[in-house]
Amino acid sequence: MKIALIAHDKKKPEMVNFTIAYKSLLKKHELYATGTTGLKVMEATGLTVHRFQSGPLGGDQQIGAMIAANQMDLVVFLRDPLTAQPHEPDVNALLRLSDVYRIPLATNLASAEILMYALMHGELHWRELLHQNKENK
Ligand code: PGA
Repeated sequence: MKIALIAHDKKKPEMVNFTIAYKSLLKKHELYATGTTGLKVMEATGLTVHRFQSGPLGGDQQIGAMIAANQMDLVVFLRDPLTAQPHEPDVNALLRLSDVYRIPLATNLASAEILMYALMHGELHWRELLHQNKENK
């Protein structure tokens, strides 16, 4: 499964701790991230992460483009709701596209853990079935 990891600046330590905690699960999947988040996750965990541009420079939009192509299976976006972001429109667009394509999306640590639990227990296999069905058409 393809998993996107994005964290606003004040949430990066949370993202790092999250990826350390779920490293053994995450390493079985393809990881994508905005630039700085990806760098911090790679440094802390040694996981391989495909890094896009930094969020304010278009990284959220690049991940959004994958969602629009139905190529992203799960998004963990640790948003900072207490700080204004210069790229708020991009953030909103990413959240909107996740809803348009019904992509499992967590915007805080508590729901991110629930998604990891679901992933661990095969509850998100329907995403893989969706890809297989598309290939068979
Ligand atoms: P960053 O981008 O990982 O490059 O900091 C995240 C964001 O602010 O959207």
